Amino acid sequence: MPETEAPALLDNSPGAPAIAPGDNPLLEDWTAAGGVPPFFRIRAEHFLPAYAQALAEHAVEVAAIAAERAPPTFANTIAALEMSGRTLERIDNVFSLLAGADTNDALQKIERAISPQIARHWNQIRANAALFRRIDAVMATAEHSGLDAEQKRVVERYHTRYRRAGAALSEAAKERIAEIIERLAALGTTFSQNVLADEQAFSLRLEGEAELAGLPGFIRESLKSEASERGIDGYAVTLSRSTVEPFLQFSDRRDLREKVFRGFVMRGDNDGPTDNKAIIAEMVRLRAERARLLGYADFAHYRLDDAMAKTPAAARDLLGAVWRPARASALTDRDAMQALIREDGGNFKLEPWDWRYYAEKLRRRVCDFDETAIKPYLSLDRIIEAAFYTAGRLFGLNFTPRPDVAVWHPDVRAWRVTGSDGKEIGLFFGDYFARASKRSGAWMTAIRDQQKLGGDITPLIVNVCNFAKAPAGEATLLSFDDARTLFHEFGHALHGLLSSVTYPIIAGTNVATDFVELPSQLFEHWLEQPELLRRFALHYQAGTPIPEQLLARLVAARNFNKGFATLEYIACAETDLDLHGLPPPNPADSPLDAHAFEAASLARIGMPDEIVMRHRPPHFAHIFAGGGYAAGYYSYMWSEVLDADAFAAFDESGDIFDPATAKRLRDCIYAAGGRQDPAEAYKAFRGRLPTADALLRKRGFAAPAAAVN
Ligand SMILES: [Zn+2]
Repeated sequence: MPETEAPALLDNSPGAPAIAPGDNPLLEDWTAAGGVPPFFRIRAEHFLPAYAQALAEHAVEVAAIAAERAPPTFANTIAALEMSGRTLERIDNVFSLLAGADTNDALQKIERAISPQIARHWNQIRANAALFRRIDAVMATAEHSGLDAEQKRVVERYHTRYRRAGAALSEAAKERIAEIIERLAALGTTFSQNVLADEQAFSLRLEGEAELAGLPGFIRESLKSEASERGIDGYAVTLSRSTVEPFLQFSDRRDLREKVFRGFVMRGDNDGPTDNKAIIAEMVRLRAERARLLGYADFAHYRLDDAMAKTPAAARDLLGAVWRPARASALTDRDAMQALIREDGGNFKLEPWDWRYYAEKLRRRVCDFDETAIKPYLSLDRIIEAAFYTAGRLFGLNFTPRPDVAVWHPDVRAWRVTGSDGKEIGLFFGDYFARASKRSGAWMTAIRDQQKLGGDITPLIVNVCNFAKAPAGEATLLSFDDARTLFHEFGHALHGLLSSVTYPIIAGTNVATDFVELPSQLFEHWLEQPELLRRFALHYQAGTPIPEQLLARLVAARNFNKGFATLEYIACAETDLDLHGLPPPNPADSPLDAHAFEAASLARIGMPDEIVMRHRPPHFAHIFAGGGYAAGYYSYMWSEVLDADAFAAFDESGDIFDPATAKRLRDCIYAAGGRQDPAEAYKAFRGRLPTADALLRKRGFAAPAAAVN
């Protein structure tokens, strides 16, 4: 099984129903169908027996590699590991696709049963001392073994993964790390369940027109359905972000805005049984201890050592460079809003629960832009066409519908992707509509990754979105944010489709977490180009292009209130690095005081009183509900520096489809996977490392960073 971070397999699965392998479509050979699983025959009960067989198979393969008598070589160790676990990978890809995009009770039950087994399976492989000795030996001789550059990189990736998991440590240290990982997993689960409990405990019932004042129809509709879901008559505000944000933006009732705001920012911080502050203290301490066992000063240094940023200082330099002009811009907006309050006859200081409300008033005045006016020009089919067109102009790709290919739901569409030479590059699946069986959000995943190790294997790539489906016979219309999401996910899809490497460990999106958003965020830039919008933003009924005036307003409104959004975000990224920059405490130290720590972090960066972090630590799921973004929340902005700087290369050429720039982009970024260190890959594309200038221009902070007091 390729060493991806994706969940893999389990040891064995007691209690799995007996299904003869011959009857299990998951265990069949799918080559005849181009590698596409026979979705129409796959049922939930097929997974546990298939997992059991695949897991056992993988364990045997890995044991054989570790016990090999011949001296360790690239072929008998690294390539052998890359070839192992193929059945498991196939099953895992199909399972995670269905568990996210088309789940049901049976699949959810399997998911709960299987994920701890998968974690244990990988822990055992990574802790296998004999296996690591072989990887270590291949690494030690890699320079002089006649390996090519890609093979050397693959050896280095294996060695790094195992070393960072603790493979080189003493048995006692390995045991302690396993304990820590298990405890962190339990704490992470409790953390998110506490946040959920606080969210479920809150609802504010609104009665009468007086309490609904200011709320437009679409918000009233959603407050009504929130209420009925909770068995409440009328309208209710709950604590999901998609309810809270529009309520704060539109409600005329300052007292109600304050109530909702306080409920929202106090999630996980209510001192009762659902309080998360002690959990935060323990998680931060355990992560620091683990980092120290692995030889790092603190968790942030551990985490960033294997990222493009390399050090917390590099991440902070970037955050600081953006913070200064963003803060100046936010303070200007604050003053304009305070003036608006006075103009309205208000005699109070702008508070955090007022910001979105007065920002909306200011936006209407300054930009004269109404989101609903643009929707008729953004039909789903046209935006898909626009994404394909952009991929065609940049990379010579063609997309041909393949209605005959097996899919997991009738709404899913499949396309055959070919290059300019007519050669098949892979298949692309679009699963665009929201439904109850799909989790929220949007993402890219793969049914099969590209690789050349066991023959020339083409990728099968999936985009999943949650757009509201129009009734039969009508065109599905998108908001501009939806259209941007489609382009974003399609950028990830191209990263998977254009991948051209030999080894799966470095294929497609298997790159550093602060680099992986470059291909996706970069692709969004084309959607915003007037050249593209004039061509594809056509009225869904009349077919007429978007009026120039509307287009101009759309572009102008893009950067409104960006100072606020930037500060809200950077404060989280800075606090994340602060929390994970703490050394392991001494036994005599008193436990971390989460409140005092948060206040000190915000004071250090000069957070304005009127703005609260987008995610305060007691509900900061990115870093505490699992470790995904721990000391890594900065990554979003890191990638944005890259995408803004990368798109500037097209701007500078004077052609947004400049062929020479597009070719470099394909060779060095989209096709290259993790073949190179990300900084080297970027330099190969751009001729230099990125600077934050383009990002500051993109966010509308073009003026040089002025001193801020
Ligand atoms: Zn993304």
